[in-house]
Amino acid sequence: MNYISIAIDGPSGAGKSTLARQAAAALGYLYVDTGAIYRTVALSAVRLGIDPGDAARLIPTLEQLDIRLEYDPGDGLQHMYLNGEDVTTQIRLHEISQHASRVSAIPEVRAFLLELQRDLARKNNVIMDGRDIGTVVLPDADVKIFLTASAQARATRRHLELQQRGQQTDFDTVLRDIITRDEQDSNRPVAPLRQAEDSVLLDTTELDLDQSLDALLTVIKKELAQ
Ligand code: C5P
Repeated sequence: MNYISIAIDGPSGAGKSTLARQAAAALGYLYVDTGAIYRTVALSAVRLGIDPGDAARLIPTLEQLDIRLEYDPGDGLQHMYLNGEDVTTQIRLHEISQHASRVSAIPEVRAFLLELQRDLARKNNVIMDGRDIGTVVLPDADVKIFLTASAQARATRRHLELQQRGQQTDFDTVLRDIITRDEQDSNRPVAPLRQAEDSVLLDTTELDLDQSLDALLTVIKKELAQ
């Protein structure tokens, strides 16, 4: 059986996870949040006392790394397990975002996670979000979307999300971190964040969540009909 894959890439805070999860629920597809996988590798590094940018020390630990994704029908979330422990909440801590950006620049980490991601798309209809899904992970995806918004709009949303999770961070710090991550993710030599040539650009700066979801579903349906 041939499965359909939809790749959604874009910078931090563009609303990829929320929108991709809702679109997947609407279409009955599996939602795969690849950022959560990089976050889990970053958490593993921190727990092992390894600087997340220290490739020489991190690479040898990958072999022993036990990372699993599980879908909980109860809360509808993709749960991440690190060596058997559910770390879904821990990987959302603000500092883990920066660490994830650093581990994800290590080519061996990306190579290690590539098959895991492709395998999910071989066995399911998926909406997969990340930075390099349309360019590297699933270059033959049926639909490719580059979802973006201005840095200011993305920081506003991320700040609100952190507040709702009870994490106190000031707006300027969130904005600065978003800009830093954009730079790191876009300028790394391996699988940098960039818009695939055959992707559809969707800018949600002026759209609220409902409007963004409508726009996303419209693009997906149109592309799948072609
Ligand atoms: O999407 P999220 O903010 O959870 O991703 C955390 C970090 O993981 C990103 O800043 C990026 O550096 C990295 N990442 C990546 N490739 C992906 C998904 C995430 O490099 N496909």
